[in-house]
Amino acid sequence: MHKVIIIGSGPAGHTAAIYAARANLKPVLIEGMVKGGIAGGQLMITTEVENYPGFPEGIKGPEVMELFKKQSLRFGTEIISADVEKVDFSKRPFRVWADDKEYQAQSIIIATGAQAKWLDLPNETALRNRGVSACATCDGYFFRNQDVCVVGGGDTAMEEANYLSGLAKSVTVIHRRDSLRASKIMQKRALENPKIKFIWNTAVVDVLDVSAGTVNALKLKNLKTDEITTHPTQGLFIAIGHVPNTDLFEGILNLDENGYIKTVPGTTRTNIEGVYAAGDVQDHVYRQAVTAAGTGCMAAIEAERWLAEQGLH
Ligand code: NDP
Repeated sequence: MHKVIIIGSGPAGHTAAIYAARANLKPVLIEGMVKGGIAGGQLMITTEVENYPGFPEGIKGPEVMELFKKQSLRFGTEIISADVEKVDFSKRPFRVWADDKEYQAQSIIIATGAQAKWLDLPNETALRNRGVSACATCDGYFFRNQDVCVVGGGDTAMEEANYLSGLAKSVTVIHRRDSLRASKIMQKRALENPKIKFIWNTAVVDVLDVSAGTVNALKLKNLKTDEITTHPTQGLFIAIGHVPNTDLFEGILNLDENGYIKTVPGTTRTNIEGVYAAGDVQDHVYRQAVTAAGTGCMAAIEAERWLAEQGLH
């Protein structure tokens, strides 16, 4: 019987582990993504991280996650390398199954994260972090005074385009239809921004140039005329949505219409007492390593206080 099980090993999961371990909760962290992925979350596929405070020269994503893990282990977190397959939160102790083993805990912190959606073009993958990105806040700075493109027509795409317009020379939004899905106010802001242009009814069908090791153009297809054109650009920001990793919790926890775990505003509490959610799995707005770490800290503090109130710690 454990006091707390943390599911997930990104910045939220490890920060929760550091705080829980230092509060003597002897946390167990199930790191996940063992099959078909890598433990450590989205930073594991990020090259340069320049916006995480404390690293003025920047640090590689996998390196910073190695440091997070080292810090969790230093205070006695037990890390289990397995994918959680099933959970039962219907009564306490809560039960979690991973690699066919059952684990029990009085409280749970969910930090399973989210994944950006990609266009699934082979060259998009090859040029990821070399001109292709899914996060303007993270990578926009690398494209100062350059020409960049944003794919998508939702709020994220408009937000990314507006943010990039403050850094880049020009921003071109490429959208597959002739109308935007984004909220009216976000549309208006982007449509009225003189630095943002729009290409409508168009899909990105290829990213060039893998042989150069960097993005220098996109191959576009007009979906009305089938015409193929080449559009020079230095950066491609994919903003077609994110998918939270919440399949395990469907029908168990309250999720919003996009599948994110609902938490009580200003807290990490879910609808089940003793179950907390931190990081991108409950946040479609900020999606930053530092905010994920912040909510991971909140979840550990909330779990510790709740366990103490229950006389379990
Ligand atoms: P959305 O699902 O709202 O929009 C995704 C956009 O990407 C759509 O325009 C869609 O096109 C396009 N798209 C999807 N798949 C593809 C594809 N394979 N190829 C080309 N285009 C594609 O996702 P968002 O991330 O924009 O928003 C998710 C949620 O988060 C929304 O509820 C949004 O309101 C919210 N949000 C709010 C913000 C805010 O208020 N500040 C900021 C960001 C997000 P199509 O329109 O044709 O379907």
